[in-house]
Formats: sequence, C-alpha cells, structure tokens
Amino acid sequence: MQRRTVVERIGLILATNPFHWVMAKESPSYDLIIVGSGAAALSSAIAAYDAGQKKILVLEKEPIIGGSSGMSGGAITVAGTSLQRSKNITDSKERFFRDMMLSGKYTNDENLVRLLVNNIPIRYEWLVSRGLLPQNLMASSGMSRPRSHMFNSGLLIQLLRGELQRRNIEIKTGVRAINLLEGPAGITGVFVSRGKKFTNLLSKNGVILASGGFARNQALLSLLAPNMRAVKVVSGIGSQGDGLLMALQKGGYIVPGETIQASFGFTKNPSTIRDFTTIYYSGAIILNKEGKRFVNESLSYKTIGEVSITQANSSSFILFDENIRRLQMSRRPVDNLLWSPFDKGMRPGYAVVGKTIFEAADKAGLNPDSVNTTVLQYNSFVRNHFDPEFCRSSLTSGYGDLVPIAQSPFYIMPSIAAIMGTYCGLKVDCSCRVLKKNGLPIKGLYAAGEIMGGVHGMNYITGTGLGKALVFGEIAGRSATEFS
Ligand SMILES: Cc1cc2nc3c(=O)[nH]c(=O)nc-3n(C[C@H](O)[C@H](O)[C@H](O)COP(=O)(O)OP(=O)(O)OC[C@H]3O[C@@H](n4cnc5c(N)ncnc54)[C@H](O)[C@@H]3O)c2cc1C
Repeated sequence: MQRRTVVERIGLILATNPFHWVMAKESPSYDLIIVGSGAAALSSAIAAYDAGQKKILVLEKEPIIGGSSGMSGGAITVAGTSLQRSKNITDSKERFFRDMMLSGKYTNDENLVRLLVNNIPIRYEWLVSRGLLPQNLMASSGMSRPRSHMFNSGLLIQLLRGELQRRNIEIKTGVRAINLLEGPAGITGVFVSRGKKFTNLLSKNGVILASGGFARNQALLSLLAPNMRAVKVVSGIGSQGDGLLMALQKGGYIVPGETIQASFGFTKNPSTIRDFTTIYYSGAIILNKEGKRFVNESLSYKTIGEVSITQANSSSFILFDENIRRLQMSRRPVDNLLWSPFDKGMRPGYAVVGKTIFEAADKAGLNPDSVNTTVLQYNSFVRNHFDPEFCRSSLTSGYGDLVPIAQSPFYIMPSIAAIMGTYCGLKVDCSCRVLKKNGLPIKGLYAAGEIMGGVHGMNYITGTGLGKALVFGEIAGRSATEFS
C-alpha cells in the first residue's frame, strides 16, 4: 500500500473533525477575535486595544485561562537588562541572537529571531514597570550568559489579565474555536462551541490564533515527531493543535525542518514544572543504568533529552553533591522547592541521598563501584580542565566553571525527558500574518506564540517560549489593527 504524505495524513485528521457539519445559529460581531488565553493571546489583546480596537473577544476553551504560559517555569530570556548589569554580567542582543542561531543550527528564521531578541527587552521593561519583578537570574539551556530571568508565571498571567480588565476586554472561557469563517475578503470570524451549543462569532478585523502548541494531540505528534510517541507530556491541557489545524485548512503550512524535542530533567512521573530540574547546569552529571555518563551535561536540555530517550528503558540518573544542590537552590526557584525538603529531614520519593557515593548508588539501584569510578574519573576531568569522554568544559553552553562532586551527602534522582511544548508551527511573516505556500498572507489571519514556527529552528533556548508569546502576541495585536 502506498504511504500517505504528512500533508495527506493531516488532511485525514481535519476530515475526522466531528464539528465540521454542525450549523451555527446566531452571529455576534466583534472588532477582533483572539483564540487562546495564554501569554500570546493576552498580549495581543492588550496591543490591539491600545492600537484602537475596542470590541475585542478572547476565547478560551478550558474553564480557566493561562494555558501552558500559566503553568510554565516563568523563565524569560532577555539580554542587556539592568539586573544583569547589577551582577556584572556582560551580555548583548547580538550575543543572544548568535546563541539562538547556533542553538537552532541556523535553520531558524533570522528575521523572527531578530524581532524576538530586539523586542523582548521592551516586553520585559513593560512587565517590570507594572511591578512584576524577576525573582532570579540564571544561565540555562543554550545560553552563553546568565540571561534567564525567572518570573512567577501565575503572577504574569494575573498581571496580563488585570490589564485586559482595565481595558474592559471580554474573555469567554469554556468556548472552543472549531473552524475559521472565511469570506471573499479573508477570515471573518470563528465557528465555536460551548458544550453542545454552536455559533458563529464574526470579527471585522480577522482572527489571531494564539492557541498554543499540539503536544497533547497524539495524532499530530506521532505524525510530526514519531520518535516522541512514548514520551510523557506536561503541556497545558488545551495544547491540542486546534488553531494549527484550523490554519492548515485555510492554506497555512508548517515551517519545515523544525524538530519537537523532549526536555531532560523531569522526575519519573511528572505533572508540572515543579517536577523538573536543571541541576546539571550547576554541575551535576547524568548517568545511564550502567552508572556511566552518556552525554555532555552542558548541552541544551532538549539535546540531552534526545540522547536520553535512546538509553536502555529511557532510564537516566542525575547525580550531584551537597555543594551543587545548594548552588542550584540559590539559582532557580523551582529547584529550591525540589531540593529544600532534604534540609527539613524529609526524604521525598523522587531522589535518594547517601553519605557516600556508594550508599546513594546502592539506594538508586545502580552498581556502586561503577558509579564511584565514574565520579572519580569526572572529578579528575574537572581538575585537569579536560573531559576526553564528552568534551564538557562548562556548566552550560560555554558559561561557568565546572565543580567537582565531592561534598557529602550525595544525591541521585532517576530522571526522564518529557515534552513541555512543540516549538514549531505555522509559517508567519514579521507581522505575524499566516502565510500560504505561495508566500502570500491569508487575509485576516494572524498567529502568535507557540503555534508559530520559525523562531527556534532545530533547538530551543530556555525562556524563549514565553518570550516568543509576549513579543509576537504584541506584534500580532498591532498588525491586526494596521492591516484592518
Ligand atoms: C511545564 C512547562 C514549563 C515551561 N516553562 C517555560 C519557561 O520557563 N520559559 C519559557 O519561555 N517557556 C516555558 N514553557 C513553554 C511556554 O510556557 C509556552 O511555549 C508558552 O507559554 C506558550 O504560550 P501561548 O500563549 O502561545 O500558548 P498557551 O499559553 O498554551 O495558551 C494557549 C491557550 O489556547 C487555548 N486554546 C487552544 N485551543 C483552543 C481553541 N480551539 N479555542 C479556544 N482556546 C483554545 C488553550 O487552552 C490555552 O489556554 C513551559 C511549558 C510548560 C508546559
């Protein structure tokens, strides 16, 4: 039998959409409709309102707003902030740009990356000027300088929602956009459902799709990333690719060549970002079930994730000592939550602790001799500034000096990779207009945030998911006004 192409198979997913055939009854009308209520959607709504659109409707299919944005780790990556300067960190937009391109293996869209890098400081200052301050600053996945500004994501959504309330922008929860409505002049609204009721909602100035990624759509995931089929997902529950499928039906397409990767550092049964550590960026090492290292731990956690799922049983173990635990707790608020119970004498089930490497390895079910040999060998690499096995020379992406693993007690956490988001998606231009294969925009259709492709290329730098949502959300909101 002839194999179907990806496009044909996406067509099948669209064709099985059961809501296709239901007739709508009434048609309320708005200046602009925005699908989603994460950081991208809320930012678009604010920008569109400030640009002059007054009757804006934000649609959220779940009972509560926020999507993945609200459950995220709150890291926003910005270069050249006063917080960096106060810590004597020299950084620049140009360096951030280079890190993005390097990490994306130069497959990312340079113009979109420039927009992100140049505009995120403006979004950052906007948040800070409204009282949302970063709790901390650290170097994380893919960055050659500490530029991951750690915010509280719940407070971020609260702030954005407050800004919508001040502008009297309506948010409807529990309403799912199902299809885009189209007239001769372009996209004119959405067909929606609330429970078993269906209706058309009309929009004078088109529709912004800010409906997030598709990590929770198994059909799309196994089509676009078959190697991710058995990998756990921790994205927002609304991340089902609805907006992506709607745009594909109208002639949009997915930027080719971008990959979907799982992030390494989750506990065995993760459900939220509280189950995720980046302690290897403070000096921990990662072992397989033979007690041996198998990767350069300073690489992007997506790259580590990719390697880790090829290990036997996808089984990996993060090993660190007391010094590294304390360093990481001082750097990343979520790690503080993960590791501080040990200070209170608690023994949470996700990690084991031992006075010696042997004891910790034994408790973790690893061969103690093998683990001890690995640690001794690694410490000698650290002393000699040369890692002949995996060429690790920094804590993360060229930043930070390695530290030995020598201070008792020692900790081992069995760890897996899980999917936090799908950092690929629709082809858009610099105005967030959704493009067709012929390069022309679909009139009245915009996309912002995780639904759009082009920014990350082949890899992902921490803090650029939320950054992308804030920056391109704002751009989409302005564009929907400018092009109306
Ligand atoms: C656990 C976790 C931790 C993360 N940590 C970070 C981090 O620290 N830093 C970072 O930069 N990125 C992080 N990310 C990624 C980042 O959160 C997302 O990429 C980003 O927030 C996406 O924003 P968005 O507004 O595009 O989508 P979302 O925030 O996902 O919002 C989309 C919304 O649209 C709704 N929706 C979907 N379909 C429809 C429909 N048909 N009708 C109506 N509504 C619909 C969804 O329910 C959802 O509420 C993390 C992700 C996860 C899951």
